[in-house]
Amino acid sequence: MQLFDDGIKKAIKKWSYPVWFVIKDDSTNCTCVDFTTHQAKPGCKKCFGTGKKVILRRMNAAHQSIDASMRGEGLAMGELNIVGVYYTLQNVKVSEGDMILDGEFLDVIQNYYPMRSDHSNPIYYKYDTAPVKSNRATIIKSLKETLKGAGYSA
Ligand SMILES: [Zn+2]
Repeated sequence: MQLFDDGIKKAIKKWSYPVWFVIKDDSTNCTCVDFTTHQAKPGCKKCFGTGKKVILRRMNAAHQSIDASMRGEGLAMGELNIVGVYYTLQNVKVSEGDMILDGEFLDVIQNYYPMRSDHSNPIYYKYDTAPVKSNRATIIKSLKETLKGAGYSA
């Protein structure tokens, strides 16, 4: 399987570009979470609406759209179909429900798979994603403002 593995690695490397992973620390609740409703504030710049402490990680990832047209303005916001797949060579250590900020797109990770061949260590990681459904524009704005404040342009 070595040749196959090398081919995949090469392809991922070739098509990779930096995106931001928005990774929740499920053990730490954000202070914005309402005690009675358990809802986080969508505009919160600590948890970005997740209700948990969040780590932002810039990682190289390759993206494959299942249907590129679905990512445009005609997107049905009520649907949560899997419309994208991301690949990384490094283990980003995400969990389902974490998000990926990719330019103007914000996706939520639906499934996450370490991809192995034979009995070796994972050779790459695959993430099925769908657009964030609620408060997407607000969350993107908060993320971008936070990143800008930290000196990043994306
Ligand atoms: Zn919060």
